[in-house]
Amino acid sequence: MTGTLYIVGTPIGNLGDMSSRAVDTLRAATLILAEDTRHSATLTRHFGIATPLHALHAHNEAQALPGLLARLQAGETLALISDAGMPLISDPGFPLVRACHEAGLPVRVVPGPSAVVAALAVSGLPAERFAFEGFLPAKSSGRQRALRALAGEARTLVFYEAPHRLAATLADAAAVIGGERPAALARELTKMHESVHRGALGELAAWAAGKGPDRRGEFVLLIGPAPAAQVQASDLPDALRGLAAELHGSMPPRALAKLLGRHFQRPSAEVYALLEALSARGD
Ligand code: SAM
Repeated sequence: MTGTLYIVGTPIGNLGDMSSRAVDTLRAATLILAEDTRHSATLTRHFGIATPLHALHAHNEAQALPGLLARLQAGETLALISDAGMPLISDPGFPLVRACHEAGLPVRVVPGPSAVVAALAVSGLPAERFAFEGFLPAKSSGRQRALRALAGEARTLVFYEAPHRLAATLADAAAVIGGERPAALARELTKMHESVHRGALGELAAWAAGKGPDRRGEFVLLIGPAPAAQVQASDLPDALRGLAAELHGSMPPRALAKLLGRHFQRPSAEVYALLEALSARGD
């Protein structure tokens, strides 16, 4: 009998959100794989979980894989957690989960809170369809390129952001997408100072540029859908997107944008913005 990998969601700030199934699963596992073992030790101690913790993060994930697969093949039950929320959602774990599936090893999930879903629900922005973009590039040039490619998105956009980059990101978003676009900042969700700051992007940018304790903490940035006219302009056909993803890097981007634009009868500037976004993401 092979063992199972459990992906276990943990709270994003409020220990009351830990599910009893999460506690049971972590207790029953042979080993808990955690991003930061010292951080997760606080959680396991609080819930009286004695299972040993083992570090699994971006820097050791590749070399740890063969050993972890061997343990699962030998019948052990492993549980994967991250510092907060759902593992893999802007957190480590994807190579392990993929490798388990490829090796035919069972993978199960114990779902828990995730800041993206919590923020969307509380934001007051349309939540039926959304596009989660994780963290934007840290450098302003790459960030602006990525935002340009998203300016016409017809779904609510959701981003994670580090507090020290919030003001710069909002300034870029207001400049690239437009200061009038409805947006929201969901701060310190599920914690004592939880708040939702709603307004136009320009207003939120001005607020974030100011000072005060309420600019600290953890934030999710949400940007409302583009107005219909803007959506149409950058609603590139799927076939074009597919070819752009396949061909980018094969020739200078301006030449490729011109070629694809001509073939699909779309403005080459739009295609160029798409190619830039693909490069910014390292696709
Ligand atoms: N895996 C986590 C999840 O499922 O939400 C996300 C981990 S990611 C490394 C951390 C980012 O999530 C933070 O920079 C922030 O943008 C967002 N975040 C996490 N907890 C939050 C909270 N309590 N309130 C607001 N944002 C939060």
